[in-house]
Amino acid sequence: MADCSYHPGKDAVGACVSCGKMVCIACRTELQDKVYCPACANKLFVARSDVPVPATTTPAVKPVSGAWWLLVILPLLFGGWCWIGGIIAWAVNKDKDPKKAKSMLIWGIVLTVIYMVLLTIFIILVVAGFLILELPQM
Ligand SMILES: [Zn+2]
Ligand SMILES: [Zn+2]
Repeated sequence: MADCSYHPGKDAVGACVSCGKMVCIACRTELQDKVYCPACANKLFVARSDVPVPATTTPAVKPVSGAWWLLVILPLLFGGWCWIGGIIAWAVNKDKDPKKAKSMLIWGIVLTVIYMVLLTIFIILVVAGFLILELPQM
């Protein structure tokens, strides 16, 4: 009889049905009447487990820092380049939390548009005010 693949010197009592390695009485694992080696039994158990095992197996959304919103909103104070902040925030976070990253990108663009509209209105008001003040003197 062959030796156990995991314990040289110990007689094997069977072979793993999955990988074919010889197993001794100590590391033989029986699952649903089939013999598995410890490694395969482990894999099988993890794969079939319905209990959510920590982060590694569940494609959980990773936390994205709320500080990224500053990158989207702060440019309002510095010339309205929110869409650039939005793109950066999206590019950095799209793998961690696609939804949040996308909403940052959208908000970046929306804020840029709002900024441009407000800026245009502001300029029109200033120009209009300037014209109204200047006209009587003309
Ligand atoms: Zn195996
Ligand atoms: Zn063994």
